[in-house]
Amino acid sequence: MGSCERKSVQAMFGSNVFSDLVMRERLPKNAYRDLKRAIEEGRELSPALADVVANAMKDWAIEKGATHFCHWFQPMTGVTAEKHDSFISPTPDGRTIMEFSGRELIKGEPDASSFPSGGLRATFEARGYTAWDCTSPVFVKEDGENVTLYIPSAFCSYTGDALDKKTPLLRSMEALSRQAIRILRAFGNSTAGRVTATLGAEQEYFLLDRKYFERRLDLMLTGRTLFGAPPPKGQEMEDHYFGSLPERVASFMREVNEELWKLGVSAKTQHKEVAPGQYEIAPVFTTVNIASDHNQLTMNTLEKVALRHGFVCLLHEKPFAGVNGSGKHNNWSIHADDGQNLLDPGRTPHENAQFLIFLCALIRAVDRYAPLLRASVATAGNDHRLGANEAPPAIISIFLGDQLTDILEQLERGGARRSKGGGVLKIGVSHLPPLPKDSTDRNRTSPLAFTGNKFEFRMVGSSMSCAGPMFMLNIIVADVLKEIADELDGARDVNAKAQKILQRIAREHKRIVFNGNNYSEEWIEEARRRGLPNLKNAVDALAVLKGKETLDLFERHCVLSRREMLARHEILLDAYSKTINIEALTACSMARRQILPAAVEYAGGLARQLAALQEAGADAGFAKKALAAVSERIEKAAARLEELDAAQREAAAVEGSEKRAAAFRDRVIPAMAELRAEVDALEAVVDARIWPLPTYAEMLFSR
Ligand code: ADP
Ligand code: MG
Repeated sequence: MGSCERKSVQAMFGSNVFSDLVMRERLPKNAYRDLKRAIEEGRELSPALADVVANAMKDWAIEKGATHFCHWFQPMTGVTAEKHDSFISPTPDGRTIMEFSGRELIKGEPDASSFPSGGLRATFEARGYTAWDCTSPVFVKEDGENVTLYIPSAFCSYTGDALDKKTPLLRSMEALSRQAIRILRAFGNSTAGRVTATLGAEQEYFLLDRKYFERRLDLMLTGRTLFGAPPPKGQEMEDHYFGSLPERVASFMREVNEELWKLGVSAKTQHKEVAPGQYEIAPVFTTVNIASDHNQLTMNTLEKVALRHGFVCLLHEKPFAGVNGSGKHNNWSIHADDGQNLLDPGRTPHENAQFLIFLCALIRAVDRYAPLLRASVATAGNDHRLGANEAPPAIISIFLGDQLTDILEQLERGGARRSKGGGVLKIGVSHLPPLPKDSTDRNRTSPLAFTGNKFEFRMVGSSMSCAGPMFMLNIIVADVLKEIADELDGARDVNAKAQKILQRIAREHKRIVFNGNNYSEEWIEEARRRGLPNLKNAVDALAVLKGKETLDLFERHCVLSRREMLARHEILLDAYSKTINIEALTACSMARRQILPAAVEYAGGLARQLAALQEAGADAGFAKKALAAVSERIEKAAARLEELDAAQREAAAVEGSEKRAAAFRDRVIPAMAELRAEVDALEAVVDARIWPLPTYAEMLFSR
């Protein structure tokens, strides 16, 4: 496309979204007003209103070229799902009209029997239903020639149990708003009506030339390389981070941005990441449920556009051993609808008091519910990152920076002399010193860092839905806010009471604050001394989900019922086992059908050449040694293959999801690692022309 044909970014932005502006233009005044109110209050639309809205949407979508609509939902697979229906409605005279009813907008009934339900949906009742989340705008999406109207939806079983990631996220936003508003009221705010959590998700990914991808069964089936000797050059020169973009990548990014802008996703930042072939894209933050939908669209767009440029986009947490994996930093804050960012320290003492309450609520929540936060990012893929000296460790802690830590210490002492200003820090009376927002102050190793006016949760895996970690953060903070609001409610002097509460939190929970290097061995020791949990793998981490405390917490705030939570625990464990099972089967298949045959072919050729050399009376030293080396390694790799094969069968046969997952973790993962070590050693001695797989050097460094 020539640059003169390009639409301006302003014209493009949101052009495929049924936005507020479009609604105002296209809906009758009353319908617009009622819809806005329903969106703001999260209420259901009346059938009459739904019909009016659906009709306007249909006309708009058809003008954009749409022929179909779909309810777009987020089952527990972590990716999105959609089932397309066309607008056509045949008439008795053999023609057709284009129809879209309010009922179709509000509710879909996909056959849900093949989505994970953790036992929530009896197989005889296969139906589930999807319901429009009217707080997330409808949009049209262009895929090739096909244009479809997308309706962001929640997904439930027929009995109303949540089977998706969106439902608990929406419920957690309600819970958080409810409790945060109580705190604002306690501090005399009567104007704010709603508080929303916000999210800005920084997405990391790899780009790989498609020709290599197609020759690697492991990448195709598991998203990561199961074999591959380290290349002569890795990321040690640190020359990739923030480097200039190769032209093909730059063109790819331009197209990604344009597609996202059309969908109203405010893609903003893009750069090269630490590992060769690794990149990042980040949007401007927005309401957490919309941001979470937008992140799904971003992942989908990256994958789709990559193919057009001869790339494959890898979203896996660890596509390549030995270089950095990919994460998804979730920047999170809470905003009141009167314009305040509640995690902004503010300028007046009054704002400070309120800020400190919200800050300390988060500190208490994270310390008390650390295992839950850890569980919210527990997947087989993310286990490769957490604790591997490239991503935060599996130990949860908070980075506050020097100044806030100093303030926390003063709070603990209950109004000691302020070191920096010399006065006494009395909340609601004193000013806070200005806190630095400058990025040089940031600790890149912390799992949860305060960065000026938001928290950055860095443990989230690159391929994960943001919804899980975000509803967890929302709910644990809501719970502590509830506790604090209960105390403040009865207080005569709110500031004095708040000071007491802050003192107690500082005393009880300061152990969760750590400003040092989270990657160091010393921290692991120190964390143990502090009694902080270190849940190193997903199976251990997930166990907390079925604990009484968790079930009570989620029921207390009406986010997930006991049944729903226990089902989720099952689903996540099952996903873990299935992931490792597929990896093991893929590794076995590649070793048996590609790698060992190639190595044997090489050995056979060597043997023939060695005989010829010896017959000719030539000096055959190298050929002899090479044959001995490769033969020995073939035998070793073959033995490891049989061991992995046995371990996989054994684990797959274990009854009970928890025991099965543990078997995959304890038996299969180590067996895979052993096979890999032998295969990688074999790679180092086999003729490059015979080796059947693209190497790390080719995959990471070719442009
Ligand atoms: P980095 O962490 O790479 O230095 P920034 O701090 O500028 O980058 O922003 C990272 C992300 O945080 C962006 O997506 C940005 O929109 C988001 N962000 C900024 N303020 C907030 C907020 N109040 N709530 C949620 N996300 C925010
Ligand atoms: Mg960041």
